[in-house]
Amino acid sequence: IIRQGDPVEVIASLIADGSVSAVHFNHDPDPHGKKEEESLLALCQEKGVACHGHNDVAMHTFDETTKDDGTAYRVYTPYSKRWLKVQKRAPLPKPKPFTTPKVPSEPLPSLETWQLILPAGLDLLPGSEAAAHKRLKAAISNRLPTYAQNRDHPSIPATSRLSQDLRWGTLSIRKAFAEANKALDAARDPQVRESYHTFIKELAWRDFYLHLLEAYPDVLTHEFNSDYRGLPWHEPDEKFQAWKEGQTGFPIVDAGMRELKTTGFMHNRVRMIVAMFLTKDLHLDWRLGEQHFAQHLLDGEIASNNGGWQWSAGTGADAAPYFRIQNPWTQSKRFDAQGEYIKKWVPELEAVAPKALHQAPDLTSGHGKSYPQPIVEHSAERDLTLSIFKKHLDHVRGNR
Ligand code: FAD
Repeated sequence: IIRQGDPVEVIASLIADGSVSAVHFNHDPDPHGKKEEESLLALCQEKGVACHGHNDVAMHTFDETTKDDGTAYRVYTPYSKRWLKVQKRAPLPKPKPFTTPKVPSEPLPSLETWQLILPAGLDLLPGSEAAAHKRLKAAISNRLPTYAQNRDHPSIPATSRLSQDLRWGTLSIRKAFAEANKALDAARDPQVRESYHTFIKELAWRDFYLHLLEAYPDVLTHEFNSDYRGLPWHEPDEKFQAWKEGQTGFPIVDAGMRELKTTGFMHNRVRMIVAMFLTKDLHLDWRLGEQHFAQHLLDGEIASNNGGWQWSAGTGADAAPYFRIQNPWTQSKRFDAQGEYIKKWVPELEAVAPKALHQAPDLTSGHGKSYPQPIVEHSAERDLTLSIFKKHLDHVRGNR
């Protein structure tokens, strides 16, 4: 039964119609959803209707994966060790058909319902539960056997591409885990086994960020590491626009930003590169990047997006230390040596020799008229970041 509107008001009207014997919902990890759940519980209590919350978003509930003293983890490795040890619930079989009460339903909403117009030229993965299950099967057989070796190379289809399915619930996290675990058990080759195991540990990263959000909802507005609150970020200017449009003159950054705009996806390694570039080369607030990602990612999810951005900015839980600044040129050489990924998304560079894609071009000729010169000089911006962060930390620590 499809209804649109404020969920609590809609359920209140269904209760008033006498069509409801109990309310079941999946817990929402974010503070907005939690607030709605509180109102829903209050409504059910007032109306005398049973109300059941279920855990479906993460593999484990918060309580199942705390430290022994019941507090939240702040660091991934000990969290993941705990996560791996906890007994996993198996996916339930498909439910048998059951009769639903005769309640009128609105039609399935479409983009027109919400007056949304898709920009031209998008290339999106098909959605639906069937499409998600097909992707899972293909990932287990074709992509994940080399996951450990290839997952950092954006031109190789070695990652599962399941994030939007996990995000929107068209694939259950339990199903993804169970299938990967089954493949791990069946595999004999140590490299293949390592690959499935590495993939399973990535699923634990997803749970880790949900765990952090549950324990520290402040991360949505503040730096997780309080030492970095109040950093003097630059004001967004035309360089921010160039970053969003994939026109920075750094081929690997531009490839990632254009992949995002066209597909609603960006490879994880490239997400890290563009995020570090925004925060460490352009000195812009990670919240600007987080918002842009949330507006464009099909898998845009509040906990992982925040976690990924704070990690890259150096302000997050278990984050890259601020002085370990990735160099976009060396990252690109390391992970896209032949420039295949870059050339796919930045066709203006088709004729450029791979080696030339991984260094600042000659300042007079650049890469030709159709591609911009680098908008910043990496080493100068790196030095500036180091001095900004150091000065800020000296100030914060001096005031303690
Ligand atoms: P695979 O490599 O196949 O991994 C399998 C699954 O594990 C993913 O689908 C995802 O659910 C989970 N996973 C993998 N890596 C991570 C990670 N680092 N953190 C959390 N979960 C992970 N992921 C999102 O789902 N939503 C986001 O909004 C999001 N924003 C990000 C922002 C930044 C700045 C960064 C650096 C990372 C972000 N990620 C986000 C994590 C990661 O980039 C994507 O989950 C991954 O690229 C999805 O591709 P895949 O399904 O092929 O991943």
